[in-house]
Amino acid sequence: MTRILIIEDNLLNMELATDLLEANDFTVYQATTAGEGIRLAQNFLPDLILLDFGLPDMHGLQAAQILKNCDATTRVPVIALTAHAMKGDEKIALSKGCNGYLTKPINTRTFVATILQFLADTNISLKDSK
Ligand code: MN
Repeated sequence: MTRILIIEDNLLNMELATDLLEANDFTVYQATTAGEGIRLAQNFLPDLILLDFGLPDMHGLQAAQILKNCDATTRVPVIALTAHAMKGDEKIALSKGCNGYLTKPINTRTFVATILQFLADTNISLKDSK
């Protein structure tokens, strides 16, 4: 089973992403703050983390740095969730420890395929992890 941690404080985005992933047999962990997300990441070592930038306790980039600097979570791919309006966020995300980014609003038609592509690109075999 492939396990995805979503760190996102917007509940509509959280629900949408969770529904799409669970409908495709992913196991989803949810955190609405960076602190909670980092704790869950360290405890459960998910296969991939979706990380919002605008979180209540710290910027997502700061959370990404913490995850990358932690031995336990350094190999877990982090995909930034960035708003379309925030031009430049994507480049910053990739230069600051994120492995990729997805723009919000979430595109329900391509979201799961994009996640699968990220997993394939980061050499996580779905076959092995199921
Ligand atoms: Mn947010």
